[in-house]
Amino acid sequence: KEELNIIQGALELRTKTVDDVLTPLSDCYMVCSDATLDFCTMSDMMQSGFTRIPVYENERSNIVDILFVKDLAFVDPDDCTPLKTITQFYKHPMHCVFNDTKLDVMLEEFKRGKSHLAVVQRVNSEGDGDPFYEVMGIVTLEDVIEEIIKSEIVDE
Ligand code: ADP
Repeated sequence: KEELNIIQGALELRTKTVDDVLTPLSDCYMVCSDATLDFCTMSDMMQSGFTRIPVYENERSNIVDILFVKDLAFVDPDDCTPLKTITQFYKHPMHCVFNDTKLDVMLEEFKRGKSHLAVVQRVNSEGDGDPFYEVMGIVTLEDVIEEIIKSEIVDE
């Protein structure tokens, strides 16, 4: 029964898209690019339990960087280091995908290994103005795997 589910999940990767599995922007734990790495901010990040934290500038839809919580290993909260110092030091590449990317393509991209988190954007052509890119949320390898095994992976 379970095997059948997994086979079905794997077959559906060709039809389902990133839209079906993404974590919406409103649910993302993020940090503002002008944050200071003081005790309060750092413990909040640790307590969030996430491995990667998108960094936004001015508004949440403007993701400019990804902070890995492990980047904080050598940061002393007493120094009140600006977050920018750390993000500019590590400069993790930010990977963007379109919301209509099929999950099998997404899986291949994650397997290639650059990053296991991607920022999802769509082309918004509603309204009178020119079409623009709109950030919808984030997707990780875990979201794709959950779709294959058809069950929730409970985080540690
Ligand atoms: P982590 O290693 O941080 O637990 P995973 O890649 O295992 O992250 O993803 C677990 C789930 O958490 C996925 O559904 C993913 O979309 C979501 N997720 C990952 N990072 C964040 C974040 N910063 N804010 C909100 N949700 C996130």
